[in-house]
Amino acid sequence: MSDNAFDVAVIGTGLSGSLLAIQLLRQLPAGCSVALVGKAGETGAGLAYGTRDRVHLLNVRAARMSLDPDDEGDFVAWLAARHPELEAAAGMKETYAPRAIYGDYVRERLAGAMREAGGRIHTSLFTSEVMGMERDGEEYVLELATGDAIRARHVGLCLGNPPGRLPLPGDSVDAAARPRIVDDPWHDRRMAQIAPEARILFVGTGLTMVDQVMSRRIAGRRGAMIAISRHGLLPATHGEVSSPPAAWQPPANNGRLGVLFHAVVAAARAAEKAGGDWRSVIDALRPLTQRLWQRLTPASRRRFLRHGEAWWSVHRHRMAPAIGARIAAFRADRELEVLAGRIIRIEGLGRGLAVVIRRRGCPEAETVHVDWVVNCTGPGRLSRSGSALVADLVAGGLARGDSLGLGLDVSRDGELVGRGRRVTPNAYAIGAAGRARFLEITAAREIRGQAAALARRIAAARRAELFPRGSARRAVAEWQDHAG
Ligand SMILES: Cc1cc2nc3c(=O)[nH]c(=O)nc-3n(C[C@H](O)[C@H](O)[C@H](O)COP(=O)(O)OP(=O)(O)OC[C@H]3O[C@@H](n4cnc5c(N)ncnc54)[C@H](O)[C@@H]3O)c2cc1C
Repeated sequence: MSDNAFDVAVIGTGLSGSLLAIQLLRQLPAGCSVALVGKAGETGAGLAYGTRDRVHLLNVRAARMSLDPDDEGDFVAWLAARHPELEAAAGMKETYAPRAIYGDYVRERLAGAMREAGGRIHTSLFTSEVMGMERDGEEYVLELATGDAIRARHVGLCLGNPPGRLPLPGDSVDAAARPRIVDDPWHDRRMAQIAPEARILFVGTGLTMVDQVMSRRIAGRRGAMIAISRHGLLPATHGEVSSPPAAWQPPANNGRLGVLFHAVVAAARAAEKAGGDWRSVIDALRPLTQRLWQRLTPASRRRFLRHGEAWWSVHRHRMAPAIGARIAAFRADRELEVLAGRIIRIEGLGRGLAVVIRRRGCPEAETVHVDWVVNCTGPGRLSRSGSALVADLVAGGLARGDSLGLGLDVSRDGELVGRGRRVTPNAYAIGAAGRARFLEITAAREIRGQAAALARRIAAARRAELFPRGSARRAVAEWQDHAG
């Protein structure tokens, strides 16, 4: 193979790309090569773990954040060794660590996997955006923004969460208002420059809003904050100490959204009545979610996204107890007001903004005066992200958008589905791109499972390619060599 030809190319080096690389380094046959292509400074971090703000905590306790499916205690042990000061009263397993520290853990584990694979697997890191990808015989050619091209037989697209955009039609935002609207609080440097006393309207009441509120308050910024979303639902808070998932099974007739929804609510109420915790019912659903989602009819899936997702999301993606307590205190002190309603128009007023809103259930509109509007509706959708790579894949027929407009169409195994519903062989998407097929595929735990399964598949395919029929014995010997 030439210098720029690899067995596998991994595009994107956030959590998904790092996890896929770790698994490939463990599972590929000796002599294979892996190219990791990611943007500068994003290795192991991506949107979630790239924050340097220590007040942005994981929303999952440490016991459930191991990167290694074969060692559930890995993150807890790493945390105990590196940051013993973070241990919660109930023990390190119950700690909600800063996300920045989790990013350090991911990077350390990736570096360790590269070291261990050392002479066996060759790894190259490319710091660049991939702008395009096309097929050339049995290989894919990736075009990098640096002008280089690399070739690979197998490709894992780990493109993750694109930045969000304010979900308002362009004509409802006055041009004079634009300079005071932040579409993407994670990357927009103006966030740090907003005056301490500025009044802010956050659009969205989920975990992104919670992060932004915490950052401002911890930095001593005292301006009033309002948060608005269609339902005005805040994420629920984890219990102080986790309880195990309930022994709950969905009803047999679970292809209908209404049946499923009522069964979950009834089970949660019953758990509370019996002195238990509704969270244990939601947690019991977690391993079943993908299967249940796939059983829903297309119409039910659309209905869920329109009416059920906000409700599901606040119960499923919960705040760490310490964060939940702070947010409750801000609300009690009227430092943070949470509204249910929608924005009708944003007008610029020279030094501020007039935002016309309609509260849920109110016929009349009202005007709220603020200094800034900050979009906190969470990560955007890959299909609307303006990614040059995605546009190129779609134009070349190697990929297409999914029917729900969430990301890309992928097969059950994560292979891209392109023009004419044809599967694009050996090109896979993991993580958020496959939301329409899997729904729950963005948390570390789900990505971990997907990355391990994909690496297994690629390693098996690569073994079959390298040791075709007749050389099976060699393949087994090779495999045993690595497994040992
Ligand atoms: C704010 C936040 C908090 C979260 N907290 C938790 C939590 O506590 N626990 C949990 O389990 N899960 C959490 N999650 C969910 C989950 O862990 C993340 O969504 C996960 O990090 C996704 O990783 P990813 O690699 O798929 O995507 P990303 O982190 O978005 O990374 C994708 C990477 O690909 C790069 N990329 C995209 N296109 C290209 C291209 N063409 N060329 C090269 N590179 C490209 C991007 O620049 C980026 O670096 C959180 C998510 C968010 C957004």
